[in-house]
Amino acid sequence: MIVGIDAGGTLIKVAYSENGSSQFTKYPIAEIEQVAAWVNELDNPEVCLTGGKSGVLRSLLTKEAKEMVEFEATHQGVQFLLDQMGREEAVYVVTNVGTGTSIHCIQNNAQERLGGTGVGGGTLVGLSHLLTGITDFEEIVELASKGSRDRIDLKVKHIYEDKEPPIPGDLTASNFGNDLFSVAGELSKEELLATVVGLVGETVSTLSVIAARQCQSSTVIYIGSSFIHNPLLKEVVETYTILRGSKPLFLENGEFSGAVGAMISL
Ligand code: ATP
Ligand code: MG
Repeated sequence: MIVGIDAGGTLIKVAYSENGSSQFTKYPIAEIEQVAAWVNELDNPEVCLTGGKSGVLRSLLTKEAKEMVEFEATHQGVQFLLDQMGREEAVYVVTNVGTGTSIHCIQNNAQERLGGTGVGGGTLVGLSHLLTGITDFEEIVELASKGSRDRIDLKVKHIYEDKEPPIPGDLTASNFGNDLFSVAGELSKEELLATVVGLVGETVSTLSVIAARQCQSSTVIYIGSSFIHNPLLKEVVETYTILRGSKPLFLENGEFSGAVGAMISL
């Protein structure tokens, strides 16, 4: 069996293959010892580790394992998953919305990290918890999808009263920037969570389209577990990316890119 493991800040992603068919699973980082125990029980596996917690995982393994820098593993995994989707993209931006967000330009089969932002999936969970007390990711995204941002976000058209704005009036001028003091006590969890998702989605997509210009690419490929069961984040990111002139693509199993890249390196 060949096994690629991407141990990230929040989740451990595992891709493994035997006789040509690949399987994907993920675990919370708190279960790193169970993942190590699973690997330790395998019969003659070939293992490659990547991600920020790969050193911790390695120290728990009794078997030999290769290690790979996560940006390279992710790049190789994205290429592989793109091939599987039948897509041929020569130049593109990859935005990995994990715990944090990392943005890369892929050209001539090589990746360069253009930058990133601390606004990512960790922000989504952390800020949502502070605002509503909810800890469960699935519950956060479920409630967020039922909320409206209208009373919390300030749009460009709200600032340009009685005047045509020089940019689309529906763009957000200020996330959480509306006149909140009078309504703060009556805002629902759904509204607050939708606005957190809006903040994360607009931040990562705005940076991505600027990166796409720098990379001279029109396509932005979004990956990372933040998009899982999260249609609202996808919608915000898709709408913003298109509005700013780029083409968004959500990769099937994209959150496993790092694990897949590690696996196929074996
Ligand atoms: P990084 O790459 O920044 O080290 P990571 O690889 O752990 O982190 P991902 O697994 O891509 O990051 O994404 C983590 C994010 O996915 C979380 O911050 C959260 O927003 C979201 N998420 C999706 N499913 C879950 C879950 N079951 N538990 C916790 N977070 C989840
Ligand atoms: Mg990651």
